Amino acid sequence: MAEYKSDLLIMGSGPAGYTAGIYAARAGVNSLIVTGSSKGGQLIRSGWVENFPGFVEPISGFDLMDRIYQQAVNLGVKLIDDEITEVDFYDNPFVCSSAGGNSFISKSIIIATGASVKWLGLPSEQKYVGHGVSSCATCDGFFYRGKEVAVVGGGNSALEQALYLTNYVEKVYIIHRRHSFNAEKVMQQRIFENRKITIFWNNVVDEIIGTENPLEVSGIKIRNVKSDKRKYLDIAGVFVSIGHHPNTEMFRRYLHLDAGGYIVTKAHSCATDIAGVFAAGDVCTPYRQAIIAAGCGAKAALEAIHYI
Ligand SMILES: Cc1cc2nc3c(=O)[nH]c(=O)nc-3n(C[C@H](O)[C@H](O)[C@H](O)COP(=O)(O)OP(=O)(O)OC[C@H]3O[C@@H](n4cnc5c(N)ncnc54)[C@H](O)[C@@H]3O)c2cc1C
Repeated sequence: MAEYKSDLLIMGSGPAGYTAGIYAARAGVNSLIVTGSSKGGQLIRSGWVENFPGFVEPISGFDLMDRIYQQAVNLGVKLIDDEITEVDFYDNPFVCSSAGGNSFISKSIIIATGASVKWLGLPSEQKYVGHGVSSCATCDGFFYRGKEVAVVGGGNSALEQALYLTNYVEKVYIIHRRHSFNAEKVMQQRIFENRKITIFWNNVVDEIIGTENPLEVSGIKIRNVKSDKRKYLDIAGVFVSIGHHPNTEMFRRYLHLDAGGYIVTKAHSCATDIAGVFAAGDVCTPYRQAIIAAGCGAKAALEAIHYI
């Protein structure tokens, strides 16, 4: 139980938070990063990253974030492994409290709390999370060696997860509710060329089936939304990759959020409705790219430094 005072508090340790920390440290600002429960952010769950500038060869998401972390530490960035649970933006200095029972008092804040997985919303899904239902192929793919699995979704992350899984599994079914993918062309090409992958277009998952003891997934029921044709797939794992929602609920009573829950910032700026509170990365942009989050983190830090 401690009280931390700083000029700048950065919430989040993804590309946006770390980059903001790096800029603040180089400017000599008394700043602090509260890492949140997912230190390194979403990229630590990704397989290979090929589109972050500066890496000639693909780099694993984990290694990329570890390098950015090391860079931040080398520059003197201070990090606290904790999670902000409550904020009070009514008065400046702002006061935030945390899951660890700490309080953080700061003149300015950068919100870089990123985004979290969207689930399908089926009762059977929540029952089997961690027992055959996953959102992270890099974390859990290994457990399905030689088995058949399904990936639900049609964006970049879904296709990336499907490709990654082919390193381990016998077969990957992609269940996608539309008739085309919403992913980069190069990624789509790799999917179409991969013999381990079968795509069910215009299909949704109606139910996840499994055993009770042990709690294990054994199949899924899917349905074609055009023909209403139903099918059962005998699979051992389901990887849900239908998108993310920004982690912004905690800020709703203070900040303007758009219909998607993203923090609305001022034009050409990371500034929010409240002077001294800035937003960066996946909390305020739907692009969901590490380089954009990092750039946003740098911009937010420069604006915060100017504000302080
Ligand atoms: C499987 C997968 C593959 C991807 N592949 C690529 C790729 O190849 N290339 C690419 O450019 N992008 C990729 N992305 C997207 C990329 O990871 C995100 O765009 C990027 O990580 C966003 O960075 P961020 O800093 O805004 O947020 P995040 O990375 O989401 O980090 C958010 C941080 O906030 C912290 N946090 C959350 N709540 C709190 C709280 N209450 N208090 C304190 N801290 C909190 C979390 O612990 C975390 O550290 C991928 C994403 C996924 C899921």
